[in-house]
Amino acid sequence: MFGRAPKKSDNTKYYDKGGDPEKFKELAQAYEVLSDPEKREIYDQYGEDALKEGMGGGGGGGVDPFDIFSSFFGPSFGGGGGGSSRGRRQRRGEDVVHPLKASLEDLYNGTSKKLSLSRSVLCSKCKGKGSKSGASMRCPGCQGSGMKVTIRQLGPSMIQQMQQACNDCKGTGESINDKDRCPGCKGEKVLQEKKVLEVHVEKGMQHNQKITFPGEADEAPDTVTGDIVFVVQQKEHPKFKRKGDDLFYEHTISLTEALCGFQLVLTHLDNRQLLIKSNPGEIVKPDSFKAISDEGMPMYQRPFMKGKLYIHFTVEFPDSLAPDQCKALEAVLPPKPASKLTDMELDECEETTMHDVNMEEEMRRKAHAAAQEAYDEDDEMPGGGAQRVQCAQQ
Ligand SMILES: [Zn+2]
Ligand SMILES: [Zn+2]
Repeated sequence: MFGRAPKKSDNTKYYDKGGDPEKFKELAQAYEVLSDPEKREIYDQYGEDALKEGMGGGGGGGVDPFDIFSSFFGPSFGGGGGGSSRGRRQRRGEDVVHPLKASLEDLYNGTSKKLSLSRSVLCSKCKGKGSKSGASMRCPGCQGSGMKVTIRQLGPSMIQQMQQACNDCKGTGESINDKDRCPGCKGEKVLQEKKVLEVHVEKGMQHNQKITFPGEADEAPDTVTGDIVFVVQQKEHPKFKRKGDDLFYEHTISLTEALCGFQLVLTHLDNRQLLIKSNPGEIVKPDSFKAISDEGMPMYQRPFMKGKLYIHFTVEFPDSLAPDQCKALEAVLPPKPASKLTDMELDECEETTMHDVNMEEEMRRKAHAAAQEAYDEDDEMPGGGAQRVQCAQQ
């Protein structure tokens, strides 16, 4: 391959004259669209996305057949051109995406939020023409193409083609006579409008779920208006964690509660108070879970079905006990395992002392030391291990 890879984000196109297989794939795809009357009509009316949907999601992303043909045959081909007899194609406007923060309570109970947004709408006075008469002239700066193109030779087999929107007409390809300018929009064709949208956050919606308002994005002339899309962003909750339709709740109990029973009043996401208690005589073990059915999250569009609520128990042990407390406990707890050794045999064993250790830190220190050692070894043998083996064989 030749030196430079095409950058995606800018409008500079690189390709070598020898033929880039990717480019030709795109070209073939574009040709297919333009030559098939049915596909062409879908493209003209609804844009590329509609076509891809219609074709079952196939095809390379971001391919605009007109852009590709323009890049091969010059900017006057296709889009925006003044006075072409085949009529104007309708572009599809961009979707506008907003994050929508929602608490776990919102997603449990469902809610609606009113959001005020500013958007462009076609000027009603001139119906988006920008002029009183409805007429417009071809922009003299770009001959109506809306684009200015410069070509540079980069090397013996490479050209660079730069396309930029025309400054004079802001890429529209048209200019409007000052006297004919619409007074409503001053020739801009669109006006800003405040719009309040009521977004319904339904029970059980998931993080990253989309709520779509079709055709509510910015309006523009000759454009099928895009959608406004809200993407649910679930906020962290101080008490509950969510996994799918299930909820998790952390609860710490004392050793006495673990052994002799506990009770807990848990405030749920809809403010109901749940009484949770152990069965008589039941012992709760450290790091154990218990589940309550139908107290998890409601399921999306089936809110009467609910996931589970899991409670994770941490047991706090006392740090030490006095000798008489130990005696009292030994009297009621199951007996210790009896020693299999005689006192004399025990006397012959070596005494040891145990000390407390922070295991995590211990492991971290060991890993660090091992890495340091490997580094030092590399330093000592610049030729590497293989060479040393060779020397030993000679
Ligand atoms: Zn222009
Ligand atoms: Zn107007």
